[in-house]
Amino acid sequence: MRDSFGRRIDYLRLSVTGGCNLRCIYCRPAGEVSCPSPCRAPSPAEIVEAAAEVGITKVRITGGEPCIRGDLPELVGKIAATSGIEEVCLTTNGTLLAPMAGELRAMGLSRVNISIDSLIPERYRAITRGGSLDDALAGLAACKAAGFENTKVNCVLIGGVNDGEVDAFDSFAAEQGVEVRFIELMPLGVCADWPRERFVPAGTAKGHVIAPISRPFCSTCNRIRVTADGYLKPCLHSGEELSLRGLSGVELVEAVRAGILAKPKAHTLADAGSRSLRIMSEIGG
Ligand code: SAM
Repeated sequence: MRDSFGRRIDYLRLSVTGGCNLRCIYCRPAGEVSCPSPCRAPSPAEIVEAAAEVGITKVRITGGEPCIRGDLPELVGKIAATSGIEEVCLTTNGTLLAPMAGELRAMGLSRVNISIDSLIPERYRAITRGGSLDDALAGLAACKAAGFENTKVNCVLIGGVNDGEVDAFDSFAAEQGVEVRFIELMPLGVCADWPRERFVPAGTAKGHVIAPISRPFCSTCNRIRVTADGYLKPCLHSGEELSLRGLSGVELVEAVRAGILAKPKAHTLADAGSRSLRIMSEIGG
């Protein structure tokens, strides 16, 4: 369906957990994170079914870290089998992916994006507060072995931390036969108050960049998001959320429709900052 500004909305980013095995410095606080209670009803599969009824054809499963869910392959299977859904993709840090990549593919997962912010093991560990680059690379290798095509690596550029690695990532992309996309760090949640130097325009990198601040793409935005605790976010950066909790059937379909119609024309990142009340790992990036 089209939103109030004529944009066709056909893409759902569905967070299936607020939990994560990593604590990236810009995404999650150092200490304990109290995850909002997950939405059991409707289930992620029921939300997708309702979304498909209003024209969603592509679903990206995200989190938190989706691979911490042991039932992820089963969930992928249900979503992929939903009438109207043409593509099911996954965004993951890749560190837990290796043992389940084959099963995910068998259950109907179409494509995988892996987030890797540094190719230097110590720096990777520092950014993720303890993660292993080898584990993430094993996830990438497992994707290839499982037969996934068009696997992408997402790298968030952080000024003074990893922005000197652009050339290394380009060489890595050529060697591995993957596309690396450089993403602008957005001032949201734990990094909202970081110094300006940390926010480098991704447009300075070669290749594919995702630059929501320096080159906003709101006019062609085709997505809605649903958080793991069951709230529909019409825009990543708006404070507006519509609760889907406890809804089913026609009520659920109508709530998704209302969420699409509530999509704002544009985000306010460049001038007023993000109005989102949540950290990124609670929303699903
Ligand atoms: N755990 C999964 C992963 O690492 O890809 C999925 C969730 S994570 C929140 C999704 C993506 O959001 C990651 O690529 C992460 O780097 C990105 N992200 C988190 N906070 C961000 C921010 N403030 N600005 C830009 N990207 C961000």
